[in-house]
Amino acid sequence: MTPLTADGDLRCAWTALLPPRAATPPLAGRVDCAVAVIGAGLVGLAAARRLAELAPADPVVVLDAGEVGEGSAGRNSGFTIDVPLSHAMHAKDSLGPVGGTQLTLSRWSYAWLERVVREHAIDCAWQRCGRYYAAATEGGRRALDGVATQFEQLGERIERVDADALRERLGSAYYRAALFNASCTLLQPAALVRGLADTLPPSVRLHERSRVTAWQPQGGRHRLETAGAVLTARRVVWATHTDLGEFTPLARRYLTLHTYAGVTPPLGDEALGQGRLSQWGLLPALRAGSTVRRLSGGRILLRSLWSYGRALGAGEVRQALQPLLAARFPRAAAHGFEYVWGGPVSITRRSDPYLGEFSPGAFAFTGCNGSGIVKGTAYGMLLAEMASGGSSEVLELARRERQAAWIPPEPLRRIAVGVTLARNARHAGAEI
Ligand SMILES: Cc1cc2nc3c(=O)[nH]c(=O)nc-3n(C[C@H](O)[C@H](O)[C@H](O)COP(=O)(O)OP(=O)(O)OC[C@H]3O[C@@H](n4cnc5c(N)ncnc54)[C@H](O)[C@@H]3O)c2cc1C
Repeated sequence: MTPLTADGDLRCAWTALLPPRAATPPLAGRVDCAVAVIGAGLVGLAAARRLAELAPADPVVVLDAGEVGEGSAGRNSGFTIDVPLSHAMHAKDSLGPVGGTQLTLSRWSYAWLERVVREHAIDCAWQRCGRYYAAATEGGRRALDGVATQFEQLGERIERVDADALRERLGSAYYRAALFNASCTLLQPAALVRGLADTLPPSVRLHERSRVTAWQPQGGRHRLETAGAVLTARRVVWATHTDLGEFTPLARRYLTLHTYAGVTPPLGDEALGQGRLSQWGLLPALRAGSTVRRLSGGRILLRSLWSYGRALGAGEVRQALQPLLAARFPRAAAHGFEYVWGGPVSITRRSDPYLGEFSPGAFAFTGCNGSGIVKGTAYGMLLAEMASGGSSEVLELARRERQAAWIPPEPLRRIAVGVTLARNARHAGAEI
């Protein structure tokens, strides 16, 4: 049993539960390639694979500062959603369905990702479990009406699930009502990202522990430095997520929030409330609420909390997540969390993306807004299409999208984020 007051370590369950993996060697010497991809998360790995599909003879080099799976790509909750919705912050928000472009992109990249996973037999616990949008409050229940309308406008089937049925299926009496929709796969994110990295096509070389420390455009080429090595490339794709501001002018288009998760030890039926379903995923009716999953083997995952400017320590995360677990699974509370961790997420205004060639031969994307598995994959593929000079219907659609607007600099940014996070938490109430 985990002592509730212990600080312990921040340790992501997804990587901790996998066998050890040998990282690829760091970049060494002087290397030349057609395209350099910086960052081996979902965006970078999708860009690299798509580049190889589009131009198999062109060498591609991927550099990552750390090891695959350590970034947000391996730390997320594993909700792989091919039919995205606008997510209400407040019960009174009236939201239209996510624009046609986002839906087209999501379906396109989901199908591609699923094909890659199947072709390479990537063992990432890929399960088409669907998702419950659940409400624990009256405000949340009203927000579900908006969720239902969006699904209906998209022609998606939903099932309305009442509190008794939820308790019987999920084992929790916490929720008043939910909508179930099948368009969501749940997976093990660190296993996915490792699998994607370990099955890259032969024209792609991945070097981990290779942080880019300097970048210079030079006579129509790009010179990238890591500790002790130099990479030159005709084009460069920046896929460094919340570090994009270091080398690109995108720092004004996104801000970085941290969000947190915990996973319990394997629990018995009693602690799990005798829920009938062995795996499920639940999203909150209001956006600032908590995400919950039951994993195979009887562990509960709970993702919640947001912070800006400072990543919380393990003790703070445990302390904040513990009552949320106790409220949903009172008999699981004594077991606490075996693992707690956090990860950064880039947030743009109105969730709009930025996709572009910000300097000749240099491409970047921002705007995952916490749903990077499908969206990050889509924009990684689009970055590849741009970098290879091609055109496609989806790229043309994406180019016509509204681009992420400027976000004010500090100290205004800090003040605005603080006010917004506090207001969202107040509105979400017990959805958190
Ligand atoms: C707790 C949590 C839960 C989430 N839940 C979900 C979910 O259920 N579903 C979903 O779709 N999304 C979810 N997300 C969001 C999702 O994980 C992100 O949107 C996604 O990982 C972003 O992918 P990425 O490739 O842009 O970034 P990352 O995965 O962060 O990859 C960026 C990479 O760039 C590398 N890098 C940075 N700087 C340099 C440099 N100078 N040189 C070389 N490499 C560099 C980093 O080492 C890193 O590996 C969640 C996120 C968190 C934190």
